[in-house]
Amino acid sequence: MFIEKLEFKNLRNLEDGELLLNENINILYGDNAQGKTNLLEAIYFAAIGRSHRTNNYKELIKFGETETLISLVTFNADTRIKIHLTKNLKEIYVDSFKIKKLGELFGNLLVVIFSPEDLDLVKHGPNLRRKFIDLTLCQLSKVYYYDLGLYYKTLNQRNNLLKKKDKDISTIFLWDEQLATYGEKIMNYRQNYIKEINEFASIIHSDITNGKETLEILYKPNVNINLQGGLKEKLEKNLERDILLKTTTSGIHRDDILVTINGLEAKTYGSQGQQRTASLAMKLSTVLHIHKEKELYPIVLLDDVFSELDKNRQEFLLKSLKGQVIITCTGVEDFLKDLNYDMKKIKEGKIYEQRS
Ligand code: ATP
Ligand code: MG
Repeated sequence: MFIEKLEFKNLRNLEDGELLLNENINILYGDNAQGKTNLLEAIYFAAIGRSHRTNNYKELIKFGETETLISLVTFNADTRIKIHLTKNLKEIYVDSFKIKKLGELFGNLLVVIFSPEDLDLVKHGPNLRRKFIDLTLCQLSKVYYYDLGLYYKTLNQRNNLLKKKDKDISTIFLWDEQLATYGEKIMNYRQNYIKEINEFASIIHSDITNGKETLEILYKPNVNINLQGGLKEKLEKNLERDILLKTTTSGIHRDDILVTINGLEAKTYGSQGQQRTASLAMKLSTVLHIHKEKELYPIVLLDDVFSELDKNRQEFLLKSLKGQVIITCTGVEDFLKDLNYDMKKIKEGKIYEQRS
């Protein structure tokens, strides 16, 4: 699967037009603030139905305009995705059919996005690591996506009840039961997924470090997955604390991933370089996992990560990525020039074709 063409109208600072892509490595380069990330954002939007950098889709509408159109076609026109954004609605069409739920979009275009903040995956808080899990699993399984949505909806309802002044706490068990049902399904998915990517990530990490370091990533659920009574019992046990804190303190919204290098927790004991290598290995492992599950490579979007890596890691990244890759960077590194990739210069919202 690869994207052949992206068309856009009134998209942020971009001049109305199209971006033609090849099936291998595509490089979009240019100075800061020219529109490179805006192009990747549009591709991500077509795959996931939202932006990777804002929750407010209206920001994509060009200043002074009332609507934005994004249209994406994959090779052989296998898949056509259209997005129509106005101030009050977001419409998404897959092969001319308007979708009703975002879940219907997932899986049509598989993407892995890699931004500089992903290099801090190991160092940062658990929120980023949960997003890391969810982004792949939602694309691979509609059931996961729907269960996750229902879990968070129920969690909100439970939290609203906990926040109420004159609350009747006797009904809380209804939410607990639902949370436990969805939560346990999600835990199983997460457990299997992390076990799978651990195998890939540890090989990649070992390759980058010439076998000097051993990486291990482990699922660290908030509720012990083998515990009898599971999440439901933990919710009941912690009810008093939840009432006091006015929020739900147990469940999959508190899950994490434990990352160790040579047996030591990387977040606490790893050097910055080790943490970044581990993050890179984790990100790359998702590409291999998607390939294993779907027998095709996802489209990899690399937004400005090259400048953040040393030459050794840059080269490793390039040689290990298969399938369609779209890279943005400010300067074109010499070794990229040598490789004769398709390059496009982005300047003031316009795309200029160049051969290296
Ligand atoms: P960098 O190398 O710094 O990451 P970039 O080329 O990735 O730069 P983009 O993030 O794509 O830059 O943004 C380009 C420009 O788009 C910014 O200058 C921003 O002000 C402009 N912009 C953002 N939203 C809108 C909008 N809704 N309408 C018009 N212009 C916008
Ligand atoms: Mg950018």
